[in-house]
Order: sequence, then C-alpha cells, then structure tokens
Amino acid sequence: MSIPSDLEISRAATMRPLDEIAASLGLGPHLLENYGRNVAKISLDAVGELATRPRGKYIVVSAITPTPLGEGKTTTTVGLGQALRQLGRNAAVTIRQPSMGPTFGIKGGAAGGGYSQVVPMEAINLHLTGDMHAVTAAHNLLAAMVGNHLHKGNRLGLDPHRITWRRVLDVNDRELRSVVTGLGGRADGTPQQTGFDITAASEVMAVLALATSLRDMRMRLGRIVVGYTQDGLPVSAEDLGAAGAMTVLMREAIKPNLMQTVENTPVLVHAGPFGNIAHGNSSIMADLIATRGADYMVTEAGFGADMGAERFFNIKCRNSGLVPDAAVLVATVRALKAHSGRFRVVAGRDLPEELLTENPDDVLAGAANLRKQIDNIRLHGVSPVVAINVFPTDHPSEHDVIRAVAEEAGARVATSQHFTGGGKGALELAEAVIEAAEEPSRFRLLYPDSADLRTKIETIATRVYGAAGVSYERSAARAIEDYEANGFGRLPVCIAKTHLSLSADPSLVGAPTGWTLPVREVRASVGAGFVYPICGDMRTMPGLGSHPAAERIDIDEHGEVTGLN
Ligand code: ADP
Ligand code: MG
Repeated sequence: MSIPSDLEISRAATMRPLDEIAASLGLGPHLLENYGRNVAKISLDAVGELATRPRGKYIVVSAITPTPLGEGKTTTTVGLGQALRQLGRNAAVTIRQPSMGPTFGIKGGAAGGGYSQVVPMEAINLHLTGDMHAVTAAHNLLAAMVGNHLHKGNRLGLDPHRITWRRVLDVNDRELRSVVTGLGGRADGTPQQTGFDITAASEVMAVLALATSLRDMRMRLGRIVVGYTQDGLPVSAEDLGAAGAMTVLMREAIKPNLMQTVENTPVLVHAGPFGNIAHGNSSIMADLIATRGADYMVTEAGFGADMGAERFFNIKCRNSGLVPDAAVLVATVRALKAHSGRFRVVAGRDLPEELLTENPDDVLAGAANLRKQIDNIRLHGVSPVVAINVFPTDHPSEHDVIRAVAEEAGARVATSQHFTGGGKGALELAEAVIEAAEEPSRFRLLYPDSADLRTKIETIATRVYGAAGVSYERSAARAIEDYEANGFGRLPVCIAKTHLSLSADPSLVGAPTGWTLPVREVRASVGAGFVYPICGDMRTMPGLGSHPAAERIDIDEHGEVTGLN
C-alpha cells in the first residue's frame, strides 16, 4: 500500500492546542512556555507539581541489531504511544531531538514516519527551540576558555599536548575533523591541533540528557574534564571557572520540548546524544515529568538492544532511579534476513531484490540475533515484547517465523502496522505491552558502581555482546589505570562500538560467538558520568554523501519546506 510522504502526512495532521495536550499530562498552562504555536517548553516546576502523582509504567523501545536503514524504533515508539491512547490509556512518548547533520545528510527527517510521526516534522527536524545551539554555545565557550587559559599564563599548568576538549557544530562537515587553531602571531593564541565533532557528540549534550535537575546539570558541567596537567591531574570546567556561564547558556535547554503526534499523543522531545560514544537516549528530565504525567510512558533507546537498551538500563536508569516495566524489541523481516549473512544491505541503496522475495527460511537463518537480543532484555529482569514492524514487502509466512522464534524464547510478540495504520495499526502491540508491564518488575542493573572498569567492560562484552573476552591496547589499559587513580572507576561504562553487529565488526551478522572485543582506547565523559572504551573506528563528525538530502530540500512560494524526507 502506498501512502503519502511523511511531510504530506505531517502537514495534513490536525494539531490540538498545546494547552490541551499538556492538560492530559496534568500540566497546567502556567507550566508552558510557547515557542510559536506548536512547540512549548515545559517549566521544570512541573517536576515539583506532579510529585504527588504515582509514576506510570515506563516502557523502552529498542530493536534487534539493525541494518544501516534503521528498523523503525522511532515509528514504533510513536505508534505504540498512539495505540495506548486508542485503548483509552493516558500515554506519552519521549524521544531524542534529531541532529541537523543527518537531516541534511543521508537521513532526511527523523521524527518517525508514515502515520506514526511527531508533528510538525519541519519543527522537530530544524532548530526546534534551539537546544542544539545552546549545547554548541556552551561547549564552545568552554573551548574558548581553555584556549584563553593557555594564552594568559596557564595558571593551572594544563599540558597543551593533553587537551581533550574539542569544538562542536551541528553539521556534517568532514573538513572540520582535524584543524589547527591559534595560527597567526603571538596575539592570536597558541597553535593547537584539534578538531570539531558534531553537536550530538558533545559531552554537554550527554550532560543535558543525564541531568536530573538544574543544580545537577550545573554540577555535571563543572565536572567535565578538558585536559590534564603535566603531572597527569585532570583539569575541569569548574577549575577554569566556566561551569556557571555554561549553565546559564543551557538554562532554557534543560526544559523538555512538548509536541504532539499526528494523533495528538503528547511527545516530549529532549536532548540528542550520540549512540556510540554517548548513551543515545533522550533526557531524564523529560522522563521524570512524563512518567508522573502519564500512565504509560514510551521512550526510544538508540540502535539495537545491546547498545541503546543496555545503556538505557545501566546508565540512564542507574542515574534517574526510574524502573522500567517492559521493553519492546523492534524486529523486521529485512533485518532478520540480513542476519542470515546471505544479503548485504547498504545505506542509500535499494534493498537487494532477492531479499524482498518470500523466503521464511532466510528469516529463520537470521533468528539468532533476535534470540540474543531477547536475552539481553531479560538479563536486566525486564519483560520483552517483540514488535514485528510490518513493511509492505513482507510476507505473512515470514512474520510467522518471527512469531514462533519470539514465543519459543518466551517473549510476547505482536505485528504492528503503525506506519500505514497509525495507532489503530499497533493495537495488538499495545495490548501485549500492557500485559507485559503488569508483570512485577524485577529490574536489575548488570553491574554495581563498585565493580572496577575492566569488570564492567567484560561483563557487558561477554554477557550482552556474546564475546569470548576482551583485549586492551596498551594505551587503553593505561587509561583505565589512570581513570581509576583519579576516582573515575565508579562510573558506568558506555562501550563505543558499531551498532551494525553484536560484535565490534560490522560485517559479523547474526549472533557471533568466540570473538574478542578489542578495546583500542578508553576515554571518559566525567561530567556526563560515564567512561567510554572505543572499539573500532568511531566517527564523531560525519561527512555528507555524493547526493546529500540538502540537494532535495527547498522552500515553496508559501514558505513551506519541501523535500524533507
Ligand atoms: P530507527 O528509529 O530505528 O532508526 P525509524 O523509525 O526512524 O527507525 O525508521 C527508519 C526508516 O524506516 C524511516 O525512514 C522510517 O520512515 C522507515 N520505516 C519505519 N518503519 C516503516 C514501515 N513499517 N514501513 C515503511 N517504512 C518504515
Ligand atoms: Mg530513531
């Protein structure tokens, strides 16, 4: 069935006044700060005002290991929220704010799709309320203060060779990956080899996502480490006197943004940290508000369950204290077929013809990935619900295979047609989620704060990824020792690896075993509150492709955006 484009569906949606959307979450109009007609920031006073309400069910949407195309977590998150409303439940959705880099790069919009999307899609994909720009400004203010500190006598004794703080911009621009700053004369600063990351990769973004209050954000910004002295001691944003001003720049950004779906389900769009070198989840502030305001709160965790959901549990929930009640695992026929190892799916290219023909055996051949990701949810004591995200090219016999595998693994399972059918298409999924969330939560963290960093890394590698062991480059092993000596050993870990495999090698599909996780380097986001071992090449500043989405994006004579999907 062919349906109108995302932009057309978005434009045809009947939006309700935001006061009404907010009221359904128990938020009075005095808590809204309007940014135009269709987006409002929610005052943090909401946290106090809602404190006496019971917490609703907390549901995370994750996925099997995806193809480069994405398997539909955002659409499923939105569709599930809409379906819960259709069933008369008071539901809300929280998602990340899309980065503008990919919007003009390969991806187009990232606000869900079809009849399960957040509206207006131009607003969520472009600037929104400026939070990305606030993160950029706060991050670069700190960079300016680091440079100035070196220039003005370097009282703290920063080692110019050990400055880790770079600069950020919200754009895909490979030219900025490595730059030299401070060229010119003596008055123009100290030459430094440095570079730019995309704003989503900024530690300030991760701080925004993990802060539990304004005060907590101020403290986390202060703890950001910008580099080390000659003696190897960390120098922080607080040491440089930057944290107060950074927080001032972020004072509006910490307020979640209220929007709605095409079916008027409330959506809090807030923070957009990277999914590899950061934890890839939307903000804790939004969840603190929405779990009080709604009876069912559905949130998306980036990438597959080994990545986004593991971090959702062990970083985000560890920080917030919120307890998840159920986890949805999005599965698609195309991704399971890709996990058979018989096909290659490449971003920006059409799916191979043979992958689209009916073949339940190919689906079964990739089922090990689904089984492993179900286990990864269970490992945390949370009930898994497999959502088969239905594509027009699927065949019922192929859905039957996914159903059988999921049931055999003891998970609930439902097909979901939210993309073409909106909330009505996801009713079976919503019912399964309601049932799963009724089971008493046995949520448990995978490791205690007190475990040492190697134990944390090895626990995730062996129990979640299915690795046989972990190897460390010498510099990685040394970094771990230094971090533990500096007191960072209590932080949780966020392993930066490819999202395209359970392993660190994107070409290994299914559920590979007998491999070793190679830790090349270990870095720390001390302010945000995690240590991140790097396994493989991680790009923190993407580039554009041969035909970036920007070539198709334009504006018509009425001022309407075109080509944004
Ligand atoms: P994720 O959040 O997992 O990356 P998205 O929800 O953004 O995935 O979906 C990835 C892409 O696939 C988007 O372009 C989306 O519009 C499209 N998509 C998702 N589900 C379906 C579906 N059931 N039918 C057709 N297209 C879909
Ligand atoms: Mg998504």
